[in-house]
Amino acid sequence: MSKMTPHSLQCPYCGHTQETMVWASLNVTHDPELKDRLYAAEINRFECEKCKKQTLINVPLLYHDMAMRFCVQYYPPEALKDEDFHRHFNADGSVAVNGVPEAVVKSAEYLTRPHIVFDMNELIRYVAFRDRVAAHGQ
Ligand SMILES: [Zn+2]
Repeated sequence: MSKMTPHSLQCPYCGHTQETMVWASLNVTHDPELKDRLYAAEINRFECEKCKKQTLINVPLLYHDMAMRFCVQYYPPEALKDEDFHRHFNADGSVAVNGVPEAVVKSAEYLTRPHIVFDMNELIRYVAFRDRVAAHGQ
């Protein structure tokens, strides 16, 4: 499922505060229109209704394609400076899924190995790459 929650955010340019939807995950199998919005750079983009300037809402975002069985996880680059960031992962780079039954993990193992990026543009490029490969690859 896709996840979004409304947040009251302040424009970094003019200080105006407005309610904005913040996405934590996009499930493009359930919500295919979100892929178009991602390509249009409309996801987690704050557009100030007062001064019209746009800002990236710099929060982690999971892109999940159940049909193609892959996911891409964006983290703000600042995450690398976070002392506790490594706790989300095993030493081999897979996601640490503590407390989830092994059978569940095995049924969707790709979820523990997201393609991890630290740049939103790279997330979009990688999705475009996977789409291209799926359409024309062997
Ligand atoms: Zn503004």
